[in-house]
Amino acid sequence: MAIASNDYARLGHATRTFLDRQHGHYINGAWIMPESTLAVIDPSSARPVSAIGAGGAAQIDMAVQAAHAAFASPAWKALSALERERLILRLADLIEQNASLLAELESVDNGMPLGFAGINVGGATGVLRYMAGWASKIVGDTVEVKMPFPGSQFFAYTSREAVGVVGAIVPWNVPLMMAIWKLAPALTAGCTVVLKPAEDASLTALALADLIGQAGFPPGVVNIVTGLGREAGEALVCHPLVSKISFTGSTATGKHINRLATDSLKKVTLELGGKSPTIVFDDADLDQAIVGAANAIFTNSGQICVAGARLYVQRGVFEQVVEGVARQADRLVLGAGLDPSSQLGPLINARQQAHVQGYIQRASAAGASLVTRRTLPEADGYFVAPSVLANVRQSDALVQEEIFGPVLAVLPFDDLDEVAALANDTPYGLAASVWSNNLSRVHQLLPRLKCGKVSVNTEGFPHPALPEGGTKQSGFGRDLGRESLDGYLDTKTVLVRVS
Ligand code: NAP
Repeated sequence: MAIASNDYARLGHATRTFLDRQHGHYINGAWIMPESTLAVIDPSSARPVSAIGAGGAAQIDMAVQAAHAAFASPAWKALSALERERLILRLADLIEQNASLLAELESVDNGMPLGFAGINVGGATGVLRYMAGWASKIVGDTVEVKMPFPGSQFFAYTSREAVGVVGAIVPWNVPLMMAIWKLAPALTAGCTVVLKPAEDASLTALALADLIGQAGFPPGVVNIVTGLGREAGEALVCHPLVSKISFTGSTATGKHINRLATDSLKKVTLELGGKSPTIVFDDADLDQAIVGAANAIFTNSGQICVAGARLYVQRGVFEQVVEGVARQADRLVLGAGLDPSSQLGPLINARQQAHVQGYIQRASAAGASLVTRRTLPEADGYFVAPSVLANVRQSDALVQEEIFGPVLAVLPFDDLDEVAALANDTPYGLAASVWSNNLSRVHQLLPRLKCGKVSVNTEGFPHPALPEGGTKQSGFGRDLGRESLDGYLDTKTVLVRVS
């Protein structure tokens, strides 16, 4: 049986109208029509459904100039923190009012099941609402200072100031959410932004531009330029008027961006790749752990930075857990994003599909055994069957490298020392999840895991108040939580001689 291509008749009127629109770049509060375009391909059907502008250095320069002027303009600079908060809350309301448009666009553009797209739209409003409240709570410190000048008195304090123009570059895997993770703290801090969404999934960023205008943000505060990373993205990283680059994407691109940004000493935060372990001890609630381990890798077809791509199971329960996870995988309904029964969509493009299949084929040829029984039905889109592979070695590429697809490598372990070493033994340090009902065991392991986030007896869902980010080759800096604001603020020290 073939997987049905996307059924566009299901799309709402607003979504069809949006897809048919000629898309430009959103610069200084207006749409600038592009000189050339890139096709928008629906990954569920491999069909073109729209086109976006192929921006380059010229459009980035216009956008950065607009953001630079807006940063200094009274329309933005003179707003009180509470007025900034109100604008951000208004944007959250508008996103909520346009939730079905945004979810449908995300599903068609990225391939994700519509239900998951809806969850992400809801999550984006949550991030804006959480962050908005911080606008009025950005404070410095007063510091007691005594100097060796007889009879003199000093008053000293620190203040926190917005860094200036932010260049935000985001990936295609959860496009709206990634854009909001950058925009929310940047706007809360009082920065202005030029956003470069991923070429493979830019539509929700463009729909967001309409809502940013409707919310009443002054022109130039948020600018959105679509196009290729090596053209628009690189021009943004190198622009002298950009003070900070906030990047989410692959480790290779992050390193390249960091090198480029060094020349002008821009501030940089990098949210990069991962190869996160799920660790199941023999005392865990195994039914819950099996579902959790399957969700950790198969949600969004494994195209999630914190995906639990390595599963370590204590030897006594290894077979039971691996079979359980494979059963979960075999049950998942693969389908086009708009099909309401779909639980697993396609991968983003043909290149990513071939990349993921290549890992499975090479591992199988080297002796790994495929525990899942799923064969992929005929499909136009870029589908890959959810795959669980056993008989792999810790040093294998399948275990060491980020695949960014629905592929799980499973390995047994004997004790806590061994699993702590295995969990840390990749170049990445993004996230981990631990399943155990032995509190003492969990607390012995937690400080030994070198990563930015650990979830215990649950999957690693993001929450607006909890920082997300990594260590090692997974980057530095944090999105979400109060901590994310630090990346968009400078500290100014003030020392006043009073007498
Ligand atoms: P990517 O290839 O690194 O691209 C990310 C963004 O960077 C895209 O907008 C891309 O533009 C742009 N880009 C590419 N080359 C560039 C350059 N030379 N200069 C400036 N910008 C450039 O990553 P991806 O394949 O889209 O996304 C998947 C990766 O993101 C995975 O590694 C995943 O782990 C990571 N990720 C990390 C987190 C986290 O929080 N740590 C969250 C989500 C995803 P174009 O694509 O338009 O060319």
